[in-house]
Amino acid sequence: MLNIVIFGAPGSGKGTQSDNLIEEYGLHHISTGEVLRDHIARGTELGKIADSYISKGQLIPDDLMIRVLEHVLDANPEKTEAGVIFDGFPRTIEQAKALKEMMAKRNTKVHAVVGLEVDEDELIQRMINRGKQTGRADDTPETIKQRLKVYHSQTQPLRDYYISEGKYHGIEGSGKVEEIFDRIRTSLNERVPEIAAMKAE
Ligand code: AMP
Repeated sequence: MLNIVIFGAPGSGKGTQSDNLIEEYGLHHISTGEVLRDHIARGTELGKIADSYISKGQLIPDDLMIRVLEHVLDANPEKTEAGVIFDGFPRTIEQAKALKEMMAKRNTKVHAVVGLEVDEDELIQRMINRGKQTGRADDTPETIKQRLKVYHSQTQPLRDYYISEGKYHGIEGSGKVEEIFDRIRTSLNERVPEIAAMKAE
């Protein structure tokens, strides 16, 4: 069993590289952004609350977000027990601590955190392009600016948190998708003992 967090600023390629990680290591994908967008599309109570934050480029409050994630884990035990890629969670230190507890309660842990590092001009350009291609409501210039501000103040401190836990794999996130994934795979295969053991089987 392998649990990986994919981490980075909005627009850093977390969703794209999650697809590669799922294929390589057979993980179950949990994207908290997708979970929330699905609720918004279905017009649920949670969707209405989530929309009021997402449309302003703000984070959903920690206590609510932690409950949502716990619910997703409990709803899919057979899928999540095989290993999960967490995409978009945690986004605050409080969420990281909650994730640690959630994993411990399930007799497992976060094995590695893949941090995609991309410079700001490229992030903005990528999100503007994605907004044009997909119509994603929060990929507008004003909201992008706010999301990056929130990322720097609330999410980036997690990088140091996971470095201190010895779990952080900083990956240069510019270039071709396959090249970036090669860097991720090399780093994980070399530094995560559980993956080396899986490869040896
Ligand atoms: P994403 O698809 O990961 O970029 O998430 C889109 C939006 O959903 C974010 O800008 C937040 O408003 C909200 N969101 C997703 N995941 C979280 C989380 N872990 N904590 C708080 N808000 C979140």
